[in-house]
Amino acid sequence: MQGLVVALDINGTIVDGDSIDPELVGSTSLTEPARDLITDLTKRISISKQNIQVVVFTMGADWPGVLQQIEDISGGVISFDRGSGLIYVGRAAGADPPAVFLRQLVEVNPDKQPFEHDGIMYDGTDPTWLDPGPKFSYEMFRERTEAGKHLILRGVYKSGNETVVGREDNTLATKLVVSKLPVIVFDDHPGDWEVISPKQRIVKTVSPGNASGGETATDFCKELTQFEMLL
Ligand SMILES: [Mg+2]
Repeated sequence: MQGLVVALDINGTIVDGDSIDPELVGSTSLTEPARDLITDLTKRISISKQNIQVVVFTMGADWPGVLQQIEDISGGVISFDRGSGLIYVGRAAGADPPAVFLRQLVEVNPDKQPFEHDGIMYDGTDPTWLDPGPKFSYEMFRERTEAGKHLILRGVYKSGNETVVGREDNTLATKLVVSKLPVIVFDDHPGDWEVISPKQRIVKTVSPGNASGGETATDFCKELTQFEMLL
């Protein structure tokens, strides 16, 4: 079977809640369609030996609970290295060719703030990028992210540093995947993504709790199967 990258947003995509928009705070449990997807991916990886990389890309501090749920549902088949599997990704302002800054991502304990880790000051919702470190080309980013297998990536909303672009700046896509494998992305905000890959599909996703009017919740497994048929 064809190898794949499955990239997932958290808020409003695999959970109903949204920790970024205070008006939309809701459940941080994986939705039923998301659980079905994790179960499907687990079977594909463990039984069919399909080469699948799961990339969870968020913009907040909501990822530790999600990481745990994915590991639990998959029985550890999809697990995340607490070192190389956690990366904070910033976009380099005005870089040509485009580049990113990569820092080690850590869990935020609200009681221990403020604290600094790997050049980033964690204090409140939007950590400040005091020292972004070296620029990584897209090729270097691909090598680094391939090595990490399943990943939790955090994108920048607001960096507090003019050399690091976040979503608030509205210039570059916050979420980036560069891969030699086909990539399918699920996100309720598809505009957040830039994907460099041989084949890709960005699925605008609706979670059950956010489906209103005539909308139906996205069936991840069905979308994944349809994507594969085009490969
Ligand atoms: Mg979202």
